[in-house]
Amino acid sequence: MKTTNVKAFGAKAADTPLNEMTIDRRAVTAKDIEIDIMYCGVCHSDLHFAKNDWGMTTYPVVPGHEIVGRVTQVGSEISRNKVGDVVAVGCLVDSCRTCSSCEHDLEQYCLNGWTGTYGGYDKHLNQPTHGGYSQKIVVDEHFVLKVPSNLDLAAVAPLLCAGITTWSPLRHWNVGKGSKVAVVGLGGLGHMAVKLAKGLGAEVTLFSRSPGKEKDAMDLGADAVIISTDANQMQAVGGKFDLIIDTVPYVHDVNPYVGALTIDGTLVLVGYLGGLEPILNTVPMIMGRRSVSASLIGGIAETQEMLDFCGKHNIVSEIEIIKMQEINEAYERMIKSDVKYRFVIDMTSLK
Ligand code: NAP
Ligand code: ZN
Ligand code: ZN
Repeated sequence: MKTTNVKAFGAKAADTPLNEMTIDRRAVTAKDIEIDIMYCGVCHSDLHFAKNDWGMTTYPVVPGHEIVGRVTQVGSEISRNKVGDVVAVGCLVDSCRTCSSCEHDLEQYCLNGWTGTYGGYDKHLNQPTHGGYSQKIVVDEHFVLKVPSNLDLAAVAPLLCAGITTWSPLRHWNVGKGSKVAVVGLGGLGHMAVKLAKGLGAEVTLFSRSPGKEKDAMDLGADAVIISTDANQMQAVGGKFDLIIDTVPYVHDVNPYVGALTIDGTLVLVGYLGGLEPILNTVPMIMGRRSVSASLIGGIAETQEMLDFCGKHNIVSEIEIIKMQEINEAYERMIKSDVKYRFVIDMTSLK
């Protein structure tokens, strides 16, 4: 298949910094759209992937799955999008479209394996997929989202992962007026969870290990902040929440959060991937029919629903714009939680 060379930024190994490289993009097929990338958000998953934290990275890797850009070419069967449109791409660029998950708009749980925007496998090119830290991307129209015209485009980018990953559990567990929701960790995902839960009408509490984020959390819409390292504050919220969304990226004790759930409440883990330590105590679960669950990004229809909701309620991410060449420093800062609250790369810096 014909390919085009585009400039990108990626890692050649787990212990080397990201650097400029050239990658192939496939020629536009009948159902494809070619997008000139304007902005790409920086997710903690990009960092996990570049450093092979999950043991599944093949190199070179070009991260980035919070993409906003302009359509530059459309395939012969495309009618929904045209050249010049501003569109978005999130974490998914393909799935089988025929399994029961795909039929129910749950492409992220495709039974035949979904294709990640990076670290997946491009069936057309027979090569690993490469993400948004690049000039252009070619994506099947089914996985291309419409961007509400009233929102700031750079600040929309993080909605494509941080937004949908927190929106999906809020919707699945029917959060609305009267719901008591808590969010663990005020980072990229956490700050979107606070804004979206508030937008849905919930009473929102933030659990943070970082004293100093209280004012920001309240400004973002939280009704209360609990410092998770303070035993008295933790005890005071025992049995309180219907839903807790835990965004912490590294292994941590989730037992105190189970204790903070009401009867039938659910703790949804969206951050850490792996075995829990210390072990999960079932006593508070059994004594209150409390659940510990988890959730992966969201399907395409649900992502569009979230974008439309954000358009209607004027919700975007709080961002710091960086140049592509500043990505390694941005990763260092993200590890220290020194970002308010999402880095977004201005992709014109790669031109
Ligand atoms: P982030 O911006 O770095 O935010 C993570 C927040 O967690 C930090 O701001 C901090 O909040 C807290 N935190 C960080 N390290 C911690 C530690 N060692 N112990 C306790 N708390 C800690 O990261 P993100 O982009 O929001 O991503 C969060 C996680 O979600 C990552 O692991 C990412 O891979 C994962 N993720 C999952 C999905 C999914 O589909 N499930 C999708 C996207 C991302 P405080 O300072 O307030 O405590
Ligand atoms: Zn992500
Ligand atoms: Zn499928």
